[in-house]
Order: sequence, then structure tokens, then C-alpha cells
Amino acid sequence: MRHFDLVVIGTGSGNSIVDERFADWDVAIVEKGVFGGTCLNVGCIPTKMFVHTADVAATPKGAARLGVDEQLLGVRWPEIRDRVFGRIDPIAAGGRRWRKEGNANVTVYEGQAHFVGPKTLDTGTGETITADRFVIAAGSRPIVPDVAGIEEVGFLTNEDVMRLDELPRRMIVLGSGFVATEFAHVFSSFGVEVTVVARSGALLRAEDEDVSARFTELASKKWDVRLNAKAVRVERVEDGTIRLHLETPRGAEVVEGDVLLAAVGRTPNGDLLNVEATGVTVETDGRVVVDEKQRTVVDGIWALGDVSSQHQLKHVANHEARIVQHNLLHPDEPIDADHRFVPHGVFSSPQIGAVGLTEQEARERGLRYVTASQDYADIAYGWAMEDTTGFAKLIADPATGQLLGAHIIGPQAPTLIQVIIQAMSFGISARELARGQYWIHPAMPELLENALLKLPLD
Ligand SMILES: Cc1cc2nc3c(=O)[nH]c(=O)nc-3n(C[C@H](O)[C@H](O)[C@H](O)COP(=O)(O)OP(=O)(O)OC[C@H]3O[C@@H](n4cnc5c(N)ncnc54)[C@H](O)[C@@H]3O)c2cc1C
Repeated sequence: MRHFDLVVIGTGSGNSIVDERFADWDVAIVEKGVFGGTCLNVGCIPTKMFVHTADVAATPKGAARLGVDEQLLGVRWPEIRDRVFGRIDPIAAGGRRWRKEGNANVTVYEGQAHFVGPKTLDTGTGETITADRFVIAAGSRPIVPDVAGIEEVGFLTNEDVMRLDELPRRMIVLGSGFVATEFAHVFSSFGVEVTVVARSGALLRAEDEDVSARFTELASKKWDVRLNAKAVRVERVEDGTIRLHLETPRGAEVVEGDVLLAAVGRTPNGDLLNVEATGVTVETDGRVVVDEKQRTVVDGIWALGDVSSQHQLKHVANHEARIVQHNLLHPDEPIDADHRFVPHGVFSSPQIGAVGLTEQEARERGLRYVTASQDYADIAYGWAMEDTTGFAKLIADPATGQLLGAHIIGPQAPTLIQVIIQAMSFGISARELARGQYWIHPAMPELLENALLKLPLD
């Protein structure tokens, strides 16, 4: 049985760990799918390339209120799709080639691995290997919704919906989180009739309650949104139409589509790896248990990213990969991951950027807090855009002026939020942030300057 210094399982964020500083290490990398993982191939990057295209396709709808009459003449789906994957697929292929041919000290196993004993891994290629150290970076996968008939009818996920041969006329999106709402925006902007089915009473309900409520209100005007709807059964009728049966407080409902997109969440891949065989423990939701240094309970086995993180975000996985890399190289001076202020963006329409506590979390924790909101409609750049629905909401500790959370819904929200992430990360108070720097006039960040100045601090 071949023995390695280090085995990395998964070529998403895990792939970046092994650089020239590991040249003296005998390393194995194991990958069951396409090189580069979820973000590159079926997640953040292609979705945002589609989102930008969808934003362009949606411009005529908003142009008339500025006195400009535009018309969308059509979208050429095969060209849109091929632009995205024409850029991405060569990167994945190049990454694979580089690992297989460019690193003398790295052996690549292309198989679905699972542990068969302590620090012993069946690589899924017919070869079982052992190592002193393992990094579990195996990510997560889409949850298959618990709906009778779904396997027989068939469904799409983020793994195939972006590569369809042609646009469907109608799409049912099952789910109400960021993946569901981003795809709903993309496909509806391309002219697909979209129905969104949500279990709860609001879309994006993990967001701040005001943001979630505003998003739900706006989405309901564009898409057929079914809230408080439990999908119980699905069937395909004679003309190929998919009929999804819902239980709702309003009674039984049926929605129809040509395709069904399942976007109800993601589950960590630790179970596929049988991590228990090497003594690694998992949470009840399947996440691999790690400490603040990304160590599992087994000495020499680390985990990072979606397989162990509650955040399931690429920037978190990348950060954790850097922590694991440091801790592998400097075992006597290990460092902690920083999960204090993890931000996220939702690239739907409107966009959302958020960091820190929501108001409902601040309330549940019994914190003393104050809030301030600023509408885009009341800043100069908001007038320029004629935005009437976006706002920024800040939550702060009135005694210290420290920001506890920030939530923006509106144009460029994931970009605007960065200034608040910076302030929270470096401990800059709301007053210092507002008055300790210039704000370009009349640029969009004035939204935040005004919100900061409105905070009723002690
Ligand atoms: C549609 C969509 C959009 C997203 N958009 C964003 C966004 O805008 N911003 C953001 O921050 N995050 C986004 N995410 C989340 C982001 O993609 C993930 O958080 C991130 O890719 C996780 O990285 P990872 O390295 O943990 O896992 P992955 O990138 O999934 O890598 C895990 C790798 O391990 C391999 N693997 C798994 N099991 C085994 C096994 N048993 N043996 C061998 N190999 C195995 C997999 O094939 C995969 O290549 C999005 C996700 C989706 C689905």
C-alpha cells in the first residue's frame, strides 16, 4: 500500500493548498469529478456569468421609467451558455493537466474515495493508500427534495441546468434560498416563465426580515411565487408537462412547468467518504466536526469548506484552505480561522449584500441595539437610477458605536457592503467610518454614509 505525506480529497478549495512549499512532500490529490470543484464548474462563477447576462437582458424592462424605450429582441441561449463554459471548461481542464503533468511530487487519483480504516483511503481507482496527514475538502452536493415521484419525473440541479440544450418555456424552481432566486432571475430574464415554490412564508428567509420581506414582495410581481407550499407529489402528464402538487394553507395547489429545478439546499459530502472509518466525527447535519484551527478530532486530519462549514461559501472555503495550508507547514505555530464577520451576496434581482447579525438575531440574543435605514431613493445616485425599492439597513451597538450587522438590497449591494465588512473586521466604529474619510459624491456609497449618520447612538 502506497504511503504519502499528505492526501488532499477534493480539488475545489483544497487544490490551492499544495504549492511550491510542499515540493519536498509526497502528496496525493483525489478527485471524483471535474477539477476545480463547485465554484468554478457549477457554482459561483458560471452563475454570476449568467446573472450579468440576465441583468443585461432585463434592462429594457427598467429603461422606460428613465424615458428610454428599449426592446429585448431575443436571447441566443446556446451562445450565452457557450460563452460561459467556453471560458470555464478550459480552466478546469488546464488545472487537471497541471496537477497530473506539472507536479513531480503530486499523484492524482481520479475516483470517488472513501475511508476504509484509520488514515486509510480507498481512492476509488482500485488503489488503497495511507498517509500521515489528510485534508478533507470534499464539498457538498444538492439535496434531493423529498417529493413523491421526483426520481421518475427527473429534475435539474445547479449541476446541469446551466448546460441545457435549449431554454424551456416554463420552469418550476423548488426552493427559496440564494441558488433558487439567482436561477429564477437568470431564467426569467431570458424569457422563461418561472414559478418559485417556497416551504416558508418568505423568500430568502435567512436574510434580515426587512430584506427578505422586500425581496419577496418584488419577486412576487415578477414570478409566480407560491409561499408556505409543501411539494408533495410530482408527475409528468402526456404532453410532457410536469405537474407539481402542493399542500398549502390555501388548500391543494398545482403548478406546471417543462422542467423542475431542485434548489432546496446542499448536504456535506462527508457521508460519501465514510469519514467515521478514520475516526472523524460529524455533526447531526453531516458536517465534519472541526475546531478553530480546522482540525478534526483525529490528529493529522483537517477539513475545510462546505464539507465542514455552516456557511457554504467560497470565500470561507478559500480562507479555511489558507489556514489549513499554514497549519500543515507550521505545525508548531498553528493559527485560527476567522469566522467573526462572514459576509455573503445574493446575485438575484435586486441584489443583496449582508454581513453580521440580522435584526431578528440581535433581538433573539437579547442585545441592546439600534438600527438605521437609508433608501436608495433618497440619495443622488438613487435618483439617477430612479431606484424606488432598495435600501441599506445597519444594526449597531448604541453604547460603543460598533456595527453588528449590515444588510443592503438594491443595485450593486454585494459591492457596496464591502466598506462595512472592512469596518467590522478592523473594529472601526460607525461614527469613525462615517466621518473619518471622504465619500465620493454623488456615488452609491453615500447610501452607507447616510445610514451611518442616522444611527441613534448614545
Ligand atoms: C449554484 C451555486 C452558486 C454559488 N454561488 C456562490 C457565490 O456566488 N458565492 C459564494 O461564496 N459561494 C457560492 N456558492 C457556494 C460555493 O460554490 C461553495 O461554497 C464552494 O465551492 C465550496 O468549496 P469546497 O472546496 O468546500 O467544495 P467543492 O468546490 O465542492 O470541492 C469539493 C470537491 O471534492 C470532490 N469530491 C467530493 N467527494 C469526493 C470523494 N468522495 N472522493 C473524491 N473527490 C470528492 C468533488 O467532486 C469536488 O470537486 C455557490 C454554490 C452553488 C451550488
